[in-house]
Amino acid sequence: MHELTVAQRILEIAEEKARDSGLSRITGIRVRVGSLTTVVPEALDFCFGFAREDTLAGNANLVIEEVRAEARCNSCGIVFPVEQSFFLVCSSCGSSDTALLKGTELDLLSIEGEI
Ligand SMILES: [Zn+2]
Repeated sequence: MHELTVAQRILEIAEEKARDSGLSRITGIRVRVGSLTTVVPEALDFCFGFAREDTLAGNANLVIEEVRAEARCNSCGIVFPVEQSFFLVCSSCGSSDTALLKGTELDLLSIEGEI
């Protein structure tokens, strides 16, 4: 399961940050997930629930910020929502001269914990 790998990676990074900050326990982790990643937030949350066992984040809460993908049209300048990154055509003028602005994020934003 792909989300399990992602959850484990998030926990690895979070534990590194916790050690750097002298935290003995992680109580919360906030991540940002773009809609064009292959990560399904519900599946990530589920996998996180058992991946966190035996880590510093044993009881940590995972907060997932979902980011809807958007692109800008270089021809007419509008910003439009993107459903699929492989078909980036302006919804207003039909131009394919477009630039993806967001939607591919998979970032660890912050951790909370106790010393
Ligand atoms: Zn356009």
